[in-house]
Amino acid sequence: MTEVAEKVDEKRKYYPFHDGAKPDAVVVHCSDPRFQEAFGRFVKEELGIEHSAPIVVPGSVSSVGLELVMPKHLKTLKDNVEMMLSMGKEPRLILINHEECKAYAKLSGFFKKAVHLQQADDLLRAAMLFKKFVTIPLHVSVYMARIDRTRPAAEQIYFDKLV
Ligand SMILES: [Zn+2]
Repeated sequence: MTEVAEKVDEKRKYYPFHDGAKPDAVVVHCSDPRFQEAFGRFVKEELGIEHSAPIVVPGSVSSVGLELVMPKHLKTLKDNVEMMLSMGKEPRLILINHEECKAYAKLSGFFKKAVHLQQADDLLRAAMLFKKFVTIPLHVSVYMARIDRTRPAAEQIYFDKLV
């Protein structure tokens, strides 16, 4: 081994590979970096899901509310959800929207409702939609991630179950 190669190896870090892990749940949520730790920990710690398959999209299920304007976005979401569901053994489907979503704010001109109502509507419609198009019986849960700024920064996000 050359000296250069040895140096590279010393610096290299290694991470766990969960070989054989199948999705216990498919989780759709937003890309917002402020929420990633909360999403991940909520699914693992509060819902007790060991191996989740996150589908991370700006605005989460907003494509459901924009079906008529941007049908391709919803088609892509459906295809991705379907593919990941098919890789698990009766996986759950978890759909999450969050407060202060910048993707929703950007799209607000397309919506007839206030953003927070649209977000709740989209979650409920997405739950119905996915139950319908997936042929196997599917357990779907729907959550809204909310911010409580009166609490310390390390614990400001909580999850409200809508369905
Ligand atoms: Zn967002």
